[in-house]
Amino acid sequence: CLLLSTVGVQGSGYLKYKDPKQPLNTRIDDLLSRMSLAEKIGQMSQIERSVATPDVIKNDYIGSVLSGGGSVPAPQATVQEWASMVTEMQKAALSTPLGIPIMYGIDAVHGHGNVYKATIFPHNIGLGATRDPELAKRIGSAVALEVRATGIPYIFAPCVAVCRDPRWGRCYESFSEDPKVVQMMTQIIPGFQGEAPPSSRGRPYVAGTRNVAACAKHYVGDGGTNKGINENNTIIDFSGLLHIHMPPYYNAVINSVSTIMVSYTSWNGVKMHANHFLVTDFLKNKLKFRGFVISDWQGLDRITSPEGSDYHLSIKLGVLAGIDMVMIPFNYTGFIGNLTSLVHDNTIPMSRIDDAVRRILRVKFTMGLFENPFPDPSLAGELGKQEHRDLAREAVRKSLVLLKNGKYGEKPLLPLPKKCGKILVAGSHADNLGNQCGGWTITWQGLQGNNLTAGTTILEGIKSTVDGSAQVVYSEEPSPDFVHKGGFNYAIVVVGEPPYAETQGDNLNLTIPAPGPSVIETVCSNVKCIVVLISGRPLVVEPYINKIDAFVAAWLPGTEGKGVADVLFGDYGFTGKLSRTWFKSVDQLPMNVGDPHYDPLFPFGFGLETHPSN
Ligand code: BGC
Repeated sequence: CLLLSTVGVQGSGYLKYKDPKQPLNTRIDDLLSRMSLAEKIGQMSQIERSVATPDVIKNDYIGSVLSGGGSVPAPQATVQEWASMVTEMQKAALSTPLGIPIMYGIDAVHGHGNVYKATIFPHNIGLGATRDPELAKRIGSAVALEVRATGIPYIFAPCVAVCRDPRWGRCYESFSEDPKVVQMMTQIIPGFQGEAPPSSRGRPYVAGTRNVAACAKHYVGDGGTNKGINENNTIIDFSGLLHIHMPPYYNAVINSVSTIMVSYTSWNGVKMHANHFLVTDFLKNKLKFRGFVISDWQGLDRITSPEGSDYHLSIKLGVLAGIDMVMIPFNYTGFIGNLTSLVHDNTIPMSRIDDAVRRILRVKFTMGLFENPFPDPSLAGELGKQEHRDLAREAVRKSLVLLKNGKYGEKPLLPLPKKCGKILVAGSHADNLGNQCGGWTITWQGLQGNNLTAGTTILEGIKSTVDGSAQVVYSEEPSPDFVHKGGFNYAIVVVGEPPYAETQGDNLNLTIPAPGPSVIETVCSNVKCIVVLISGRPLVVEPYINKIDAFVAAWLPGTEGKGVADVLFGDYGFTGKLSRTWFKSVDQLPMNVGDPHYDPLFPFGFGLETHPSN
């Protein structure tokens, strides 16, 4: 009778795990009990889109695919092209016997950065300066919609690094040097994922197809390395780790973050990807994180050096440490073969594999991926829509930090009148969308110029804000003669760093790149000048600060350059506060708020305010 009823149930095509009315754990148990080792290892595998053909997804039961860095289906790919790419992959996954959907992931670290015409928000350093968690949450919701528009349900964001040294090339991905500010800004997570109801708090949660699964990264201590060297060693005692680098993860877990990415860095010489104590004992057992832990890109390989020299050992150490999903991302046959043999010879117990797969399935079930595996075409219009651009513009306004307003003893220069007469706008960053967006925009390292995507430069913002009677003259690198004889009332100089990402951005000097300093010299010695610095971190400005009349830190504002003009010309006031310490010279680094010999140029939390004048 039992046998008959089972046959009967199967005959009618009923599968418990596919029934959304079944309790979550019943679905997970049912599906897990049907899976072969190959299917389980497939779920643990995340591969790069360029190798993710339908056959590979089907034959190796691949559980997840990613767009690494700026890996796009085509330059200027449309929403529909992205969605149809995801659809093809999803069809392949669903055609396997158990039909487990793939989870496509992408780095949407300041908006849907890889995608042409997406809204690009200020990088996290600027959001930290707003001190506005509610704004972060609204940004999270907007980004989720833009990402879902392309059929993608999973993002590798937010970066909750507590960057302690601005020489680090990823400093701008960090909200602040102060863990409390980073904790506050983790409100972006309920924005991305939707607010978890009380019964789901602390467990992975995604509200539905207008939200995405988030990933807090990079666990833990990524922002604490020696001299800010990317992927290096963070030397700190356990109590320091708990007080400085760990706090954002408490908030991430309480706020139901679905996944957590492990850091390339080491803690006191031990690679995080091999750290059983921090990944399993602390994160999973003590903090009770129930989502899945994902490796960084080739993060397992880098456990043994030179990179991946003993891949077998790397996989053993990484999976035993507690990594559940592995961002392989290319050598999937090597990964699958090695992990299979490690299970066969009992080096890795089946219980560890089952724990990893349970966590992955838990996220896939809770986010509704089984019920809604395909892109929703009705969301296509969400990408780059005006409402999101307005929100990004608001974020730009609130992220600007006014550090000087008028020379000593003189009256404040900002806000400027809209009837400003003849003004000069100068510098490499005034009319360059790529420079104002920074890294992780269209490509991994970012791009320069104005043709990369849709948006408004700072110059365009100024032109559209000033009164019709004003005359805006733009010269990227004006000669002294031109400045001197131009009859300008004011000059706005916009200079800063070129785009960069990760190790390519590590920098021990932190000077304003040429010709920025000479443009400042030339312009500011002849006209009343406002310098707007576009940078992923504080730079050395002490040599120039006395020559400058007003100084604004604009960070990496993204595509909505109008937000800068909104505040310069008084439609809104300056409200931003430094999320980092502004040092005088690099010899002082690392120097953070609370340090005993704190002697900054501008302290953490500093920011002058202005009132709207219109
Ligand atoms: C970065 C991660 C990123 C991953 C995928 C890595 O190099 O460290 O932050 O999510 O690439 O693009």
